[in-house]
Amino acid sequence: MDPILAGDLADLPELLDETRHAAAQVLAGLNDRPVARPSDGNGADSTVPAVGVGLRGALREFQQRWEPKLSGSAGPRFLGFVTGGTTPASIAGDWLTSVFDQNAFTTMDSGAAELERETVGWLGQLFGLTEHTGAFVSGATMSNFVGLATAREWLGERMGISVAQSGVGALGQVHILSGAPHASIYKGLAMLGIGRDQLRLVPTQSGREAIDIRRLTDALDALDGHPSIVVANAGTVNTVDFDDLRAIAELKQRYPFWLHVDGAFGAFAALAPEHARLVDGLAAADSVCVDLHKWLNVPYDAAVQFTRRRDLQVQVFQNTAAYLGIPTGAPDFVHLVPESSRRLRALAAWFTLTAYGRAGHREIVQRNVAMARRLGERLTASGLVQLLAPVRLNVVCFTLADRPTAERVQALTHAVAESGETFLTPTVYDGKPGLRAAFSNWRTTDTDLDRIYDAITAACIGLDQES
Ligand SMILES: *Cc1c(COP(=O)(O)O)cnc(C)c1O
Repeated sequence: MDPILAGDLADLPELLDETRHAAAQVLAGLNDRPVARPSDGNGADSTVPAVGVGLRGALREFQQRWEPKLSGSAGPRFLGFVTGGTTPASIAGDWLTSVFDQNAFTTMDSGAAELERETVGWLGQLFGLTEHTGAFVSGATMSNFVGLATAREWLGERMGISVAQSGVGALGQVHILSGAPHASIYKGLAMLGIGRDQLRLVPTQSGREAIDIRRLTDALDALDGHPSIVVANAGTVNTVDFDDLRAIAELKQRYPFWLHVDGAFGAFAALAPEHARLVDGLAAADSVCVDLHKWLNVPYDAAVQFTRRRDLQVQVFQNTAAYLGIPTGAPDFVHLVPESSRRLRALAAWFTLTAYGRAGHREIVQRNVAMARRLGERLTASGLVQLLAPVRLNVVCFTLADRPTAERVQALTHAVAESGETFLTPTVYDGKPGLRAAFSNWRTTDTDLDRIYDAITAACIGLDQES
């Protein structure tokens, strides 16, 4: 054994203690770490070490060279994209995932996959998807991909073919309808050989991102009995708008379509009784995407996909030689998802659900929503900004009250980021440039809300002084 590697093995308990100490210091300083640290693009151009420095040396080098460049995105005031942090139990679960280093692709040699099944079952209960089966994937993009791949196979089934065997060319034209889909839906269609251009946007209700049910009905009617895929959105990223899932599901009685619901973060509305009506009808979906590294507050990378047709999913993702036949019963995860070998990413979710339960995670959702509403009210009252949409759940979408030009909104985005106090991401909604503040971190408190409000209003005022 390499002597440096052997030395690390001999010192492993102490080295892990030092790493744990370093981690605890980072977490203790999270509140003061600059929220965003845009990359300067320098520093990636160096030579691979010829001889190593051991774990202790590597830790020191990381702390000197790279740690200062990492953002406080796990902290309470990072409101860009939809981000979320990591609960204490999820960090422990994530660490132990690496310690055990299980390959959760099969049940042949370990109970790891069973733990994953238990966790998927718990998540199904949280979201009311108890008739669905599911699996962990690396993020909502992959979850949407698996849902769309299964939908594609269903289209084939309607024609008496298997797309997985015959190729997508055998399908002919594919009809996909959606109101305000996430970018990852287009990416999924590109990966599936269906093509981004096949997605037909159905008009949304006026002033909303929720699909216009009458226009969807017209679009389905025009297909003249041809099967299609409808992608419903349960929480759009701009304004967190929700399609009427129950009304869409009812259309299945009249038209043949696969209903995929992208509930990446919006599905968490189901955890709180006062918000659950937003996802009423979710259980009627044929496939559902839920992200976990966002609102469940587990580390990257984790999401879950749910389906009602595991048999079709297996047709697509089976990893056995054709002569062995298609796996039946409860197929191993290797037959259900794009990956073959895969880490036990369910463990972090298992830890946080065991540690905090339904009540703990409901409280995070409720607090984040309350904060988004309060920020929306306070910003409106300041007169400096105007909301571009009502705060329906956990995102405040707003723009400058005075001259909301693209340049001024961009300057505001930069000024907020440079404050180091909070981080918001820009958007264009209804043709208007704006900003989004997305609350999904378990750490965010009232004190943080004050700091966020102060940072945004100071940046608005600074802008007016400059121009
Ligand atoms: C974040 C998000 C995605 C993509 O999720 P990743 O985890 O980044 O792959 C898809 N859909 C919606 C609605 C999202 O918010």
